Amino acid sequence: MSETIALLGDEAVALGALHAGISAAYGYPGTPSTEILEYLLAEFEKGGPIARWCTNEKTAVEAGLGVSFAGRRSIITMKHVGLNAAADPFINGALLGIKGGLVIAVADDPGMHSSQNEQDSRFYADFALIPCLEPRNQQEAYDMTREAFEVSERFQIPVMLRLATRLSHARAAVNVGAAQKQNPVSKTDERTRWMLLPAFARRNYASLIEKQKDISGWSAAHNANKLELPAGGKTDLAVITSGLGGNYYEENLDDLIAQRSEKQHSNLPARLHIGSYPLPVNSIRKLCENAEKVLVIEEGQPFIEAKLRGILNQSVTINGKLDGVVVRVGELDPDNVRKSLGLPPRSSVLDVIKQKHDDISNSVNNFAAGKISRPPQLCQGCPHADSYETIKKVAAELDSAPNHPTVAITSDIGCYSLGAAPPYSVPESIVCMGASVGMAKGAADAGIPYAIGVIGDSTFLHSGIGGLIDAVTANVPMTLVILDNSIVAMTGCQQTMIPSDKLRDLILGCGVLPEHLLELEAKKQLIDENAARLKKEVEYRGLSVVIFRRECLEAFRKRQKSKK
Ligand code: SF4
Repeated sequence: MSETIALLGDEAVALGALHAGISAAYGYPGTPSTEILEYLLAEFEKGGPIARWCTNEKTAVEAGLGVSFAGRRSIITMKHVGLNAAADPFINGALLGIKGGLVIAVADDPGMHSSQNEQDSRFYADFALIPCLEPRNQQEAYDMTREAFEVSERFQIPVMLRLATRLSHARAAVNVGAAQKQNPVSKTDERTRWMLLPAFARRNYASLIEKQKDISGWSAAHNANKLELPAGGKTDLAVITSGLGGNYYEENLDDLIAQRSEKQHSNLPARLHIGSYPLPVNSIRKLCENAEKVLVIEEGQPFIEAKLRGILNQSVTINGKLDGVVVRVGELDPDNVRKSLGLPPRSSVLDVIKQKHDDISNSVNNFAAGKISRPPQLCQGCPHADSYETIKKVAAELDSAPNHPTVAITSDIGCYSLGAAPPYSVPESIVCMGASVGMAKGAADAGIPYAIGVIGDSTFLHSGIGGLIDAVTANVPMTLVILDNSIVAMTGCQQTMIPSDKLRDLILGCGVLPEHLLELEAKKQLIDENAARLKKEVEYRGLSVVIFRRECLEAFRKRQKSKK
């Protein structure tokens, strides 16, 4: 039985996992991956397999390992930077000889539409020595997700599914098949198989290395890796594409053929599209056997290109992101790929679209440079606005010596990152999830008298809490401001791990003194009063925590709507 449905790339992954018979799905929200788990949560509510948001990506992977040890299948979802938080169980998971299929779907964000960097998750899969599948369209997203579970169980290893924004968030028709049953619960007879104590870990690592040959063989034969050699087998140019880079190359192929025939090149470039990793080394060598140069078009960082140096002989010129032939910063698109192929710019409707795209990019750049008057802003009436007004007032009162830094304000990842923009311009640093706490502690240790960390409630639970325990232990003079809007607002209002009324107990449990834990209502009318109380805590020469609390307006609207 099969049917055709229009699905986002993320939804195709979710449905592929559902049809592959998963028993559980875990994740932490993050653009562009959020919609995978949202889809599975909706299925869970209708009686489908368990789906849950987790405190962070690390705990999500750990839960997936537990499901796998019970012989059942699970999918873990996250954005690329989430994999940094999950790196410990992710890397070690490869050594375990897992049982039920475990698929880690990671959505990269080239172009940084909603992220702090452009890191490429294929490096992580390579580092962990696990297989990776990279779909180039929604159909492959569905098919490869299903396949990834088979591969995971065949090699007893987690499998990465690498996605990118344009695939995750674009919709296309997908032909879907019948759902499989869930695996029965089972355990292993080998008592030490899942224990990474040194003696067992050495054995498991040797086994991981041993299975690499079979994994490479599987990847080499994968039908997503398509080698196209021109008639006669000889050509001056070889092209390697991967992921969405393959689509952009094909969009320009007719013009490339026309240009080459004008220049009397007798044949097409040779071409290899890569959709599975480890790299299909023999196909790459065959592709480049007679080529003078190879051009690599891959979305993300120059992963394939860097590996080619160890695969090809010196006589082949390698062009790509490392030598600037392909654009290195930002996303690929049909136009910049066209330029890499040496084709003249198109004058068509695509130019108009590109112009719009450039206009948006320019607006963002101008915002970053402080050149425009209407940067992206917090929603009108957002509680964070009142909290930032309060913090700004306190900072202005304390920062009396402009040439000698007296106040450091660090912040974090969430809607409240927009407090860096005018009219607030409050935080001076935003790095990664949870970092505001450690950075404020470091500033205090370095001798800044008034160090203030600003973090959201969900980000605090994700990875700020460890920093708070460090700060309590050292009793550094700093104030952690927690902006509690009772929701994970930035990614579409997912539930936080614990409700607001439990936050106080949790913070006290970390060792914060009750007399230095304030809970304030984030309200415009209370700015002066709140500022006076916050200032007192910032001036206190020990650790204090101040919670500014008011529900996110968007969450409030959604809650009201769901009541109707
Ligand atoms: S979604 Fe909520 S938290 Fe985010 S800016 Fe809007 S009101 Fe503020």
